[in-house]
Amino acid sequence: MKRFWICVISAALMLSMTGCSGKAAEEQFFAMDTVIRLTAYGKKAEQAVNLGEECITEMENILSATLEDSDVSAINRAGGEMTQVREETARLVEAAKQYTAATDGAFDITIAPVVTAWGFTTDSHQVPDEVTLERLLQVVDSSAMEAAQKNDSWYVACGENQIIDLGGIAKGYVSDRMADIFAENGITGGTAALGGNVLAWGTKEDGSRWNVGVQDPAKPNDAAALVGIVALENAFAVTSGGYQRYFEENGETYHHIIDPATGYPADSGLVSVTVVADCHTESLEGKPGSGTMCDALSTALFVMGEEKALEFRSGSEYDFDLVLVTADGRVVVTEGVAEAFAFNEESGYLYEIVS
Ligand code: AMP
Ligand code: MG
Repeated sequence: MKRFWICVISAALMLSMTGCSGKAAEEQFFAMDTVIRLTAYGKKAEQAVNLGEECITEMENILSATLEDSDVSAINRAGGEMTQVREETARLVEAAKQYTAATDGAFDITIAPVVTAWGFTTDSHQVPDEVTLERLLQVVDSSAMEAAQKNDSWYVACGENQIIDLGGIAKGYVSDRMADIFAENGITGGTAALGGNVLAWGTKEDGSRWNVGVQDPAKPNDAAALVGIVALENAFAVTSGGYQRYFEENGETYHHIIDPATGYPADSGLVSVTVVADCHTESLEGKPGSGTMCDALSTALFVMGEEKALEFRSGSEYDFDLVLVTADGRVVVTEGVAEAFAFNEESGYLYEIVS
């Protein structure tokens, strides 16, 4: 059932990417637990979209926490021993560790045992008891993880008793790969929408920017309910929201973004966080780029809450903008994205622009 809603929500986001005519190539499919849509213009559009789909399947096979043959499953089975993995996995784990350090632990891929205890890994939802959560939180600490290269081989090890879940960063990394493929195939304009992770590459054929809708978190099942639209060119927009995956028990709603400080779904006063950042048009050659950054930060800033998130942005080495939706009914955007953001006056939210 949740999967169905994920499809609906993803479709809503994608439908809101408006304004294209005469597409050169387009592909829509289900992977990484979400609906994915790729569009591309250019002489090699067809090839780019096909390569994009192949790449996404390959990345899912490597990075999934539930597929037995993935690198992540191998790391999780290894009980702390160094495990040989693909270069991509090692680079992504290394990047994830850096985001943990930068966000003071708000983003942490070793949160996996806690996410699993809530049943989000397997869609068998339950509220864990406090003793269990306290015990599981003791092993949440990315600094115990290691990623290393020896000659041409790459290795990753968790700390003892740790397991990892790349669900908060993998789609962003895959968006970076889509940017690589678009760059390498001379794509002049295109989009890659992986659920809440959107790459707006180049421009539309008429030279105008891509429109990416920001879903109204209060109406996740209504594709047309947007708090606003961001017009983007060579940029990523990545949204994290409690509304994207949750369950209800005894009248309470529990969502999938866990605060590593408590073990409970983050209750920070934010209902969604959209991180917007430039995508540079040169190829990253497989390395994590700003798509990965947007994904890690959207999760982390959702955990932090409005005040800390804005403080983090001001003092940060990372270059990005924010569209925040708060539980008390405000849409807060940072200056850098205000010009590109068309607020939906009918949405019922109050609109604020902050520095
Ligand atoms: P996102 O939709 O990118 O915000 O990622 C949410 C997913 O990341 C969840 O479904 C979990 O798999 C995982 N996750 C949950 N909480 C965290 C956290 N604090 N840090 C890193 N990953 C998390
Ligand atoms: Mg994320």
